[in-house]
Amino acid sequence: MPHAHDPISDALLELLATNDPAVGTILAAERDRQESTIELIASENHVSAPVMHTAGSWLTNKYAEGYPGARYYGGCVHHDEIETLARERAKAMFNARFANVQPHSGAQANTAVFMALMQPGDVFASLVLKDGGHLSHGMSLNFSGRYHKPVHYPLHYDPAHAEFERIDYDAVRRVCLEHRPKVLMCGYSAYPRVIDFARFRAIADEVGAVLVADVAHIAGLCVGGAHPHPLPHAHVVTTTTHKTLRGPRGGLILTNDEELAKKIDKSVFPGVQGGPLMHVIASKAVAFGEALRPEFMVYAHRVVKNAQALAGALTELGYRITTGGTDNHLMLVDLRAKNTELTGADAEKWLEGAGLICNKNGIPSDSRPPKFTSGVRLGTPAVTTRGMGEAEMGVIAGLIDRVLTSGGDSATAAQVREDVRALAERFAMPGVPRVLAK
Ligand code: PLP
Repeated sequence: MPHAHDPISDALLELLATNDPAVGTILAAERDRQESTIELIASENHVSAPVMHTAGSWLTNKYAEGYPGARYYGGCVHHDEIETLARERAKAMFNARFANVQPHSGAQANTAVFMALMQPGDVFASLVLKDGGHLSHGMSLNFSGRYHKPVHYPLHYDPAHAEFERIDYDAVRRVCLEHRPKVLMCGYSAYPRVIDFARFRAIADEVGAVLVADVAHIAGLCVGGAHPHPLPHAHVVTTTTHKTLRGPRGGLILTNDEELAKKIDKSVFPGVQGGPLMHVIASKAVAFGEALRPEFMVYAHRVVKNAQALAGALTELGYRITTGGTDNHLMLVDLRAKNTELTGADAEKWLEGAGLICNKNGIPSDSRPPKFTSGVRLGTPAVTTRGMGEAEMGVIAGLIDRVLTSGGDSATAAQVREDVRALAERFAMPGVPRVLAK
């Protein structure tokens, strides 16, 4: 049975069918792809209809360089209102004194914060990309690695250690004492465990560094009470708005320090950006409003429970989950435990053929290059948004296993694709009342 849709989505496709069928056809196909597959990419989610359609609203027509009350263009009265509302909601979510809602993305937020806190050539400490960090935390081709000097702190790499593959906080301290970084970064792209922000702050204080917590992945869990808050420990918090926070694509910066807030505002505009994407800021306001509702707390806790259920089911099937499990929304699956020949690249491709969408990911100490990897990263934000629970996580683990043990067999992929389609049909996309979807 086909999915029910929210009326604005249907109206948009009708509009495009007459005005621009080439674009309309692609958008309709993408809607169908999202509805009929199971989204396991840890950094993705399905936004509500109000979040989605606000991002396509009148505010896209406007230049609003500057900040509320201090713009470089006339006609910004409603833009001031919406940006102020978004800021207030952002502050409420993180219990912060200052918020900048203008960064176009998480990487832009980090760029602006680095510009506010460091000079070119300054040293900062972070986790390296291959261990779960983000490219904007010092990768050599990124601005952060080209214009600053990253030093990386390690995980525990010894399999015999009780904290295997978790952050080695003593080593973080040692690296910081040795290199005296201006900035200490925590917050990651592929780290399945709780981050001890207080411990990071103690190290930052000891070495005179500014602590930046990039909570891009876990922001929604923090807001929903399923992971400790980065504030008041971090001096600055950066995040994306589109992962567990379930907003439109974008970035956000928070701090409690007025002087830092002023520097950060100047770095975002005019430092690294021009006109803000006001339609996206309006959509952020809607998403933040949703995240402040009690239902979002239930959602955040379900995301974690689902991740733990999926990790447990995969472990039972013979896969190894790095660190032995997860405390948050994601897990890294070490495929070698099941099949030493299988690469993350093949797993991603085979799973996509069956409608199970994920990404290949290096695991700590991976001997294979990033193009291949020995792991996949799985996450539960999107499936939880669709209303799936722990029972479905067991089913999904079984589907994954069928594909990965088939050796890339296309008949198996086709059979699993049908099971995925049937499962997806039972769980509506957000914005559609559940009863309508059945
Ligand atoms: N920081 C972290 C920890 C991330 O995981 C990501 C994205 O995956 C980013 C920053 C960058 O966000 P964006 O892709 O919006 O630039």
